[in-house]
Amino acid sequence: TARKRFGQNFLTDEGVISSIVGAISPDNDHVMVEIGPGLGALTEPVADSIDNLTVVELDRDLVERLKTHPVLKDKLTIHQGDALQFDFTQLKQDGKKMKVFGNLPYNISTPLMFHLFEFAEHIETMHFMLQKEVVLRLSASPGCKAYGRLTVMAQYYCQVVPVLEVPPGCFTPPPKVDSAVVRLLPYEQKPWPCKDVTVMRHLCTTAFNMRRKTLRNNLKGMLDDDDFAALGIDSTLRPEQISVEQYVAMANLFIDKSTAN
Ligand code: SAM
Repeated sequence: TARKRFGQNFLTDEGVISSIVGAISPDNDHVMVEIGPGLGALTEPVADSIDNLTVVELDRDLVERLKTHPVLKDKLTIHQGDALQFDFTQLKQDGKKMKVFGNLPYNISTPLMFHLFEFAEHIETMHFMLQKEVVLRLSASPGCKAYGRLTVMAQYYCQVVPVLEVPPGCFTPPPKVDSAVVRLLPYEQKPWPCKDVTVMRHLCTTAFNMRRKTLRNNLKGMLDDDDFAALGIDSTLRPEQISVEQYVAMANLFIDKSTAN
């Protein structure tokens, strides 16, 4: 039976499964990595066409099932543990980049994406089943309600492409929310490089702290009127009206100011 605490909603719709596998396009030139394989709905069709698949699964009972699975057991490299704590660099081999995918437990999807962004340079593509609302946030444009800290950080690291919407009936048990699959393509060359992403993350969190307040108000103590003028940014705007490029510019200016002092 599915365990609520592990966010277990297993994919059962064959059409959706084959669309997702097609989008992932499994191959042997990448280290293929699945997060939360569960009972293997995606694992089996992906493993079918490749030599090896690495999986990270938290649930010990499911790990035991995978270890003894007649078809999968010879193809899988299994890591039992929490994907949020997992060091994905340990999976690198022969200079291959990773293709990461999963039907994620929705309760950890945002922190998990922030965790994976730290390994972006080692990742070729990511495909995730998420709450539809989260896919809307990832792919939002400035000025939209869904535009926020997750949007800015995701689009800083990756090109974001919504792939497919998936209704609750495609899962067992059905989740209470609509789902969608998203493709994240980490940039080889970031369009707007930041000198220190820790600062960028901090600045974004601070900027979106109170969405109804102006940028100027939220960033008080980090940037002043002269800084905004130098960047050509209207500081009376709300945080959701500021582009990713402008967030990077603000972070870089803050870094320059801090190192100058
Ligand atoms: N991929 C399967 C499918 O599509 O049918 C299962 C998807 S289910 C939504 C999420 C899976 O992630 C479950 O197998 C669950 O045990 C596992 N999981 C939950 N939290 C996890 C974590 N922190 N790290 C790794 N796996 C986790």
